[in-house]
Formats: sequence, C-alpha cells, structure tokens
Amino acid sequence: MSCEHLVCASCAAPVVEGRCLVCRSARSRLHRHDGVGFSPQLMLLVAVLLAVVAVALVHLPG
Ligand SMILES: [Zn+2]
Repeated sequence: MSCEHLVCASCAAPVVEGRCLVCRSARSRLHRHDGVGFSPQLMLLVAVLLAVVAVALVHLPG
C-alpha cells in the first residue's frame, strides 16, 4: 500500500509531500510496513509459535 496517490483532507496536498501534521502522521502510518518495525500480525505469529513450542515441550516424553 502506498500513499503517493492520496490527497490530504487537511491541506489538500499530496500526502506523500508531508506538508502538514495530518500528512506526516498518515504517511508514517502507511509506510510503517516498509521499515524494520514489527507489525501486529508478526507479533501475533511469534506469540502463537511460542505457545506451540511451549505445549510441545510440556507434552514431550521423558
Ligand atoms: Zn496535509
């Protein structure tokens, strides 16, 4: 998803130009997926994997 075609409702300029606070917050929110930050989906996946490993360890014989 990209914000280059979005027009800001606050300043009526392309959001990608980041002319106002609304533009900048929307742009950073849209581009968060591209960065090194963890997405909620990834955090959920990690939590599920940890739970599966914990259950497997508990049920391991011996
Ligand atoms: Zn704006």
